[in-house]
Amino acid sequence: MSTVAGPTEGPYSVQDAQPPSGPRCQATVANVAIVEGFGYWSGKDVRVEFHPAEKDTGYIFVREDLKRPLHIPANVNFRVEMPRRTTLARDGVQVEMVEHVLAALNGLGITNCEIRVNQSEMPGCDGSSKAFVDAIDKVGICPQDAWEPRLIVREPIRVGDDDQWIEVQPSLDGVTSFRYRLDYTQSSLAIGRQTVEFPISPDVFRNEIACCRTFMLQQEAEWLLSQGLGTRVKPTDVLVFDDEGPKENTLLFHDECARHKVLDMVGDFALAGCFLVGKVVAHRSGHRLNAELIRELLKEEEIEILCRKTA
Ligand SMILES: [Zn+2]
Repeated sequence: MSTVAGPTEGPYSVQDAQPPSGPRCQATVANVAIVEGFGYWSGKDVRVEFHPAEKDTGYIFVREDLKRPLHIPANVNFRVEMPRRTTLARDGVQVEMVEHVLAALNGLGITNCEIRVNQSEMPGCDGSSKAFVDAIDKVGICPQDAWEPRLIVREPIRVGDDDQWIEVQPSLDGVTSFRYRLDYTQSSLAIGRQTVEFPISPDVFRNEIACCRTFMLQQEAEWLLSQGLGTRVKPTDVLVFDDEGPKENTLLFHDECARHKVLDMVGDFALAGCFLVGKVVAHRSGHRLNAELIRELLKEEEIEILCRKTA
């Protein structure tokens, strides 16, 4: 990690939390925001509380249902591999399907938050980040008196193979953007090919990405049910595609599936523990490759900790 002087002194304002370029000030939730629901996989009721946290805390999950509450930092070092979701573990205790919760925090420009939960699996809600964003927006976001640590990509880095890959390139204009190419032409013509690209800012995340829901194919849903998973989930809770399109549901955007993949990337990149300045381009990648890229990035690039000039 390197420590360099910030370009300006305070005072910090909410504008500082808005990209497109330059360092952003740290921010936390202005008050406690609460979301309740049930986990898609486990079917268990769960309550998530977003609590304000001191500057330089980052995101920390707290399993409050345990005799001794356990803190699990949302960092790639605590990530464990599980199918189709992002899971963190410490001392044998897990928090599962954290990506849509983290996408809400990262997408809204929040740096520090204690996420208190009473179950291992986060609520699925409608399969998007909307419930978390709405709850946080209701209590507000509070800027903090420090710059956000950031990682500026200087050299392209790519992981994956010819079929599925993700790379990050330097951003010449200082804007962080995510591009995703989805290709389901082999398995579902109803989903087909979709490509989206967004510069990420809190407003873009709120208006274009946060409400985009997760999706699966009819045969995948049937397999999960046969395994006793997802039994509480109704077709209206998640996009289940058959040959015609989503069952008992309507798309919010024609490219909602690809947008959801961007949502997942915003959530997974929270595990870098800093704000990324770069252009992410992904082709049919998922949670595993997102994490692999973050690990490579942290190996290759330095996180800048910006200080106030007076420090
Ligand atoms: Zn997702």
